[in-house]
Amino acid sequence: MNTQWLEFTSLIKEHYKKDFVPLHEPTFNSKELEYVTECIETGWISSVGAYVTRFEEDLARFTGVKRAVAVMNGTAALHIALKVAGVQENEEVFMPSLTFIATANAASYLGAVPHFLDVSEKTLGLDPQKLEAHILAIGEVKRNQLFNKETGRVIRAVVPMHTFGHSVELEELQLICEKYHLVLVEDAAESLGSYYKGKHTGSFGKISALSFNGNKIITTGGGGAILTDDEELANYAKHITTTAKVPHRWEYEHDEIGYNYRLPNINAALGCAQLEKMPEFIEEKRKLTAFYEELIAPLEGVMLFKEPEHSTSNYWLQTLMLDDSLKRDEVLTFLNENGVMSRPIWTPMHELKLYAQMPKADLSTTGRLNQKIINIPSTPVKEV
Ligand SMILES: *Cc1c(COP(=O)(O)O)cnc(C)c1O
Repeated sequence: MNTQWLEFTSLIKEHYKKDFVPLHEPTFNSKELEYVTECIETGWISSVGAYVTRFEEDLARFTGVKRAVAVMNGTAALHIALKVAGVQENEEVFMPSLTFIATANAASYLGAVPHFLDVSEKTLGLDPQKLEAHILAIGEVKRNQLFNKETGRVIRAVVPMHTFGHSVELEELQLICEKYHLVLVEDAAESLGSYYKGKHTGSFGKISALSFNGNKIITTGGGGAILTDDEELANYAKHITTTAKVPHRWEYEHDEIGYNYRLPNINAALGCAQLEKMPEFIEEKRKLTAFYEELIAPLEGVMLFKEPEHSTSNYWLQTLMLDDSLKRDEVLTFLNENGVMSRPIWTPMHELKLYAQMPKADLSTTGRLNQKIINIPSTPVKEV
């Protein structure tokens, strides 16, 4: 690491006016305070309330889907999305190995088996060509269902994930899903405000999941949502995330084993205020991309990852791509020691002990990318 890299860290700290720049912080102002204060003053802080309904309506409008169901986190959203999409015990679910563990865990909660696929260098998400080649190698369609010839199990769904906000090739995946009787369920946890061919990510699948964790583009503290155009699925998702209680003025009747996955009103209040500011957040994120692009120009062996073709990204996390002349861990050590928080991408799922035995495709791109990717500070810069 040389003086150019030292200059790089100084300019970032100067930009943020901080000695240590975190990876991603929430951005709040008086709106959040106003809405949350209203919850406290009226006592409407818990599992029902006007902000929950409003947040669901605002989210549906923003993403262009018919319905949004708010839940307590993105993992719960994925769990229920997969369940109502029809994923059952002992079925397989295609997903990228390069993802946050929630994607794989959500399938596991249903007794289903994650089946790991490779990603594309262009999008950092599922590679449709490699997916189809893998299906042709191991799959067999019988009675309108896709079977894995090697395990005998039904493969029910495909869960693409839009890494750091960059959309995967959704139309190509839709075609593959139709051809091979797979259900498309999008893990859009990182891609609120990202579009593919002008249409919001999360609106291509039969159903999809969002996250509003503290580090995401907008936050409710903790929170998530399920998106779908299917009213019936939305109603069912709402029902089972709210203890499957049959509506009645006083009787406690529950018609199946439901979940208490509700998003409290006080968290939804935060979400409403945050969602109002999405246009500004995105604008600031894109300015930050331009800023970093200038900043890395003098550095050798590194590129800034840019949105792929047909994708308009929210640039949730800014991403450096290192070439072979740089060692990932050396760069990470240098940046973190010089006040610029930076992180590698997740350990691929198939490299985790608990998921090492799961079925998988060729994962050569995943293996290679894993050692090249570094995320750098991505908070939209506040107006001073
Ligand atoms: C954040 C995230 C989730 C959901 O996370 P929660 O912390 O449960 O809200 C799921 N998948 C991916 C890819 C994520 O980044």
